[in-house]
Amino acid sequence: MKKDKKYIEKYGSFYHSKDWRNCRRIKMANNPLCEECLKKGKLVEAEEVHHIIPIDTKQGWELRLNLDNLESLCTECHNEKHKSRQSAMSQFDRFWDSLQDSKKETKGEK
Ligand SMILES: [Zn+2]
Ligand SMILES: [Zn+2]
Repeated sequence: MKKDKKYIEKYGSFYHSKDWRNCRRIKMANNPLCEECLKKGKLVEAEEVHHIIPIDTKQGWELRLNLDNLESLCTECHNEKHKSRQSAMSQFDRFWDSLQDSKKETKGEK
């Protein structure tokens, strides 16, 4: 897959951007709990911000900074979400989604 490098450069610079960091911070502030767990009635601290529509799609890219396209998730739920997508981009996306600027000092207990 020779295409992947260019691909990764494009999305990598997005994930490095100030805009994305701000956006992620806002999302985490708005939704500090895992939204997926919340649906099941569990209160779990969110650790990662996920793009609902993957950013390597046309629509997802347009919505990359749209809060409606973001989901706060715990690591477990996030892994589940990305399991269904097997592309190289999916792995990359997963990696970046999970990087946080300011890790909270208290890690949620498992
Ligand atoms: Zn969860
Ligand atoms: Zn994700």
